Amino acid sequence: MKRILIILTIFIIIFYSIISYCYHNFQFWTHLKTEQFETLREYNGKNIIAFRGRQILVHKSVIPRLIEIDNYAKNNNLILTINQSFRFNGQNISRAIVKPAKFSNHLAGFAIDFNIEDENRKYFSNDLKRNNRNKLPINVKKFLNKIRKNKKLRWGGDFNKEDPIHIDTPINFSKKKWLIYNQLCDNEFSKGIPKWKVWEK
Ligand SMILES: [Zn+2]
Repeated sequence: MKRILIILTIFIIIFYSIISYCYHNFQFWTHLKTEQFETLREYNGKNIIAFRGRQILVHKSVIPRLIEIDNYAKNNNLILTINQSFRFNGQNISRAIVKPAKFSNHLAGFAIDFNIEDENRKYFSNDLKRNNRNKLPINVKKFLNKIRKNKKLRWGGDFNKEDPIHIDTPINFSKKKWLIYNQLCDNEFSKGIPKWKVWEK
């Protein structure tokens, strides 16, 4: 009886550890198969990682921008954690820092939200705000300046209503284009099949 209890306890500990590890580092059940997608693409970067191992999905034309951002992060020894990339219509946003815009570039796959990590610490929205920017280490400042100098990118820290964890390509300057991309992405996403369902096409 005692032996059974020990085995059961070990089993429960192992099971709990696996669940806990997956929840915090590798939420594989949120990953969709993207092979059949025509508009949305998955990004797997080196210095860009997804929050809790979720999937980074963006419009395919944004992939080159992510590669650039990834390189800026790498050159400054930073890791970016992406909290949000493409967002489907009606998706609830937990812990939203800025009230989501109706014509948000996230809804068309043209935006990411991030936190920055260097070897010493993590930098969140408050740390990146105008009033605190002088206190940032040089490599974080350099990284942000690279984003600002890239003509195809906007950094939310420069917005009137600042949103310093946001980077986008402003497809929403044209509502017509935004609507097309939003619908294409949303359609694809809603028909998406989770990767773990390997037996479905
Ligand atoms: Zn954003």
